[in-house]
Amino acid sequence: PTVFDVQRIRADFPLLARSVHGKPLVYFDNANTSQKPVTVIEAMNTHYREHNANVSRAVHQLGEEATAAYEGARDKLAQFINAPSRNELILTSGTTQAINLVAYSYALPRLAPGDAILTTVMEHHANIVPWQLVAQRSGAMVKAAPINQRGELIVEQYLAMLTPEVKLACVTHVSNVLGTVNPVREIARECRRRGIPLLVDGSQAVPHRPVDVQALGCDFYAFTGHKMLAPTGTGGLWAKREHLEAMPPFFGGGEMIREVRFDGTTFAAPPHKFEAGTPNIAGFVGLAAAIDYYHSVGFEAIHVHEQQLLAYATERLRDVPGLRIFGEAAEKEPVISFLIEGAQATDMATLLDLQGIAVRSGHHCAHPLMQFYGVPATLRASLAFYNTREEIDHFVTALLKVRKLLM
Ligand code: PMP
Repeated sequence: PTVFDVQRIRADFPLLARSVHGKPLVYFDNANTSQKPVTVIEAMNTHYREHNANVSRAVHQLGEEATAAYEGARDKLAQFINAPSRNELILTSGTTQAINLVAYSYALPRLAPGDAILTTVMEHHANIVPWQLVAQRSGAMVKAAPINQRGELIVEQYLAMLTPEVKLACVTHVSNVLGTVNPVREIARECRRRGIPLLVDGSQAVPHRPVDVQALGCDFYAFTGHKMLAPTGTGGLWAKREHLEAMPPFFGGGEMIREVRFDGTTFAAPPHKFEAGTPNIAGFVGLAAAIDYYHSVGFEAIHVHEQQLLAYATERLRDVPGLRIFGEAAEKEPVISFLIEGAQATDMATLLDLQGIAVRSGHHCAHPLMQFYGVPATLRASLAFYNTREEIDHFVTALLKVRKLLM
């Protein structure tokens, strides 16, 4: 077991050492995107300096090295989420591309007027809008399961909404606004009983917990690399082989074919069938290094530290007069959305930035959730394992100061 030394970990993240507006940076916008360890930055750098070539096209040495690196990243990522086969893992630019692929390639051909897709009120727009687009084209509808005031999915209602016209069920593993961890295993079990496939948005889960798609029992699992220490423009879609074999390709082009003829083109087997064009090779080299980094720290240690930070931050924020937290689920990842009575979220975020503190303000790509709470925006402090108690103290002190300024 590795000893968790947060200062040693912070030394691996060059950006954390910088200052902002003359103040030491406190980076609490990790649910938006994470910072990157030096090993990820160096892996990409080395790739471009020493191994750069296109994949799967050349027999020359560099082409083989680039292909081995890219396909090696797939192996590593498949293991990371415990996919039963590397061929069930499509490398994408992120969650958005992964969900849109399922929308157009899986859902659209199966939807008829009167059919439905089930999602929830707490979803990111990436798990709402693609379903609306394919529903519009097919005459199907999108239904949203409700949540309670604590920001928990009302699971009985979700299950009650799994009626026969639902052709696909969707749910986020972890809410990007509330931190809520949803009971995906239970939902997946109930979906299987009803013969309804389940898509899980794992964007906010993979940075915090070991994900095992086989244990979860879902059909599709979408996630993004840039929130898990990896470069932007990386991510993946895991899907059961039977679905991938039945799905037509969405993008056409190079790399995804077996033979192209004007009287009928045949396609490569999954996953390459869904990976038209030159991929983000260097990005996936970085993603492989990010996974190595997670393994070197260990999710057990990460979980303990992050849950301590979450508990401490929640407790400290109770000292701030007029502060309301959105999201008090029994099981949470370290994301805290809040508002202070009488102060606008954007004004607060701007003043916090002047203190070197990076938090997000706004709707967090979750308009329906804001509508549920009847607020236009919240502030969100989202933590990572490289954050510290001292940063939380600094944040709360700044918050009290900013509050006085705005009152
Ligand atoms: N779903 C959730 C829950 C998210 O938090 C995000 C990123 N904010 C996305 C989807 C979209 O991810 P990306 O922009 O990387 O495609």
